[in-house]
Amino acid sequence: MTIRTDTAVLDRKGLEALVEALADDGRTVIGPTVRDGAIVLAELEGADELPYGCGVELDAGRYRLTHREDGAVFAHSAGPQSWKNFLHPQREKLWSADRTADGEVTVSAARPEPVSYAFLGVRPCDLRAIAIQDRVLTGGSYRDDGYGERRRGAFLVAVECAAPGATCFCVSMGGGPGTDSGFDLALTEVIDEAGHRFLVRAGSREGAALLEKLPRQEADDATRAAARAVVAEAADRMGRSMPPVNLQRLMGDSLEAARWDDVAARCLTCGNCTMVCPTCFCTTTEEVTDLTGDHAERWQRWDSCFDLDFSHLHGGPVRSSGRSRYRQWLTHKLGTWHDQFDSTGCVGCGRCIVWCPVGIDITEEVTALKAEADAKSHVTATTEDRTYEEEEAER
Ligand code: SF4
Ligand code: SF4
Repeated sequence: MTIRTDTAVLDRKGLEALVEALADDGRTVIGPTVRDGAIVLAELEGADELPYGCGVELDAGRYRLTHREDGAVFAHSAGPQSWKNFLHPQREKLWSADRTADGEVTVSAARPEPVSYAFLGVRPCDLRAIAIQDRVLTGGSYRDDGYGERRRGAFLVAVECAAPGATCFCVSMGGGPGTDSGFDLALTEVIDEAGHRFLVRAGSREGAALLEKLPRQEADDATRAAARAVVAEAADRMGRSMPPVNLQRLMGDSLEAARWDDVAARCLTCGNCTMVCPTCFCTTTEEVTDLTGDHAERWQRWDSCFDLDFSHLHGGPVRSSGRSRYRQWLTHKLGTWHDQFDSTGCVGCGRCIVWCPVGIDITEEVTALKAEADAKSHVTATTEDRTYEEEEAER
């Protein structure tokens, strides 16, 4: 029997073989695993390190691991890290300079370590986030060579979502728990009376070639239907949603909203939301020297628009208040990102809600801004009460 390689079914042994085959190809396999009470992304030695039987319970400012009787391996939503930790690392050396005995100074560019990643378990929201970072870091005038090199060599194994968290809202950001592109392989985990298995689809020639090497079964109609149902049910179980409004315009119209004072009274300006966000990309540079002053290095590290120094010009920071910094983050993410990169900067992964120490919820903030804009529309409406969306539809 000839088995088509663009779609197939893997069992648990097939998943183990997938991890082995990726490692045999010389790739560093990164996937979800349990560490320090969370499902983190880390290098996997084998498939037995995957979080079998682990779920998560999420809410604003809350994350707990739970036990699942069904032994599901991918039934958890986005954890504290995203793939940017590997593609766009927190710290990276850019160059070093050395002074020789005769006083000459030589400068050498630091080449990124050649690494070929395989990412196992990339959620559809994170596939979109990678595509957004691709545009930012490889598509414009300010390219990040290290990112480009790591990205070119990366093999992506996506996993469609079966168990969205209470903080997920990808559907309302135009995405969803399923995916059709941007991956080399895509898995959908199915657990029913016919067993625990994974429908796998190839999305690239490389993916199809790898799939051909794995022990697999022909994709049957029952598994295909069950996989479709998993994704459809997940789409109906989103924990949150963004209000259906033109966010770009709402942000532009809300620059003087009173809500910024409200959120500023709660926000600690800690920057956690920018660290966990899979699309935030800002960096700064710093120089270090050794004690002799003969060796110096320049490092690039993540920065955050919540940091006071981020907007420091001569004389002080431009955005000195928490109000202005939170407003900068939200209006860039949902508004001016469109002007710069032709897309939203938010994929609805919910990480900023979960990992905010005081539980600030981006969907709640936008809902409040929209209510304020609605109220303003009502005040200014002359003939009838119109909502913000109705006004917008008329423009
Ligand atoms: S803004 Fe929040 S929900 Fe949107 S992509 Fe970033 S972390 Fe995820
Ligand atoms: S919104 Fe939350 S996570 Fe972001 S800076 Fe403020 S307190 Fe920190």
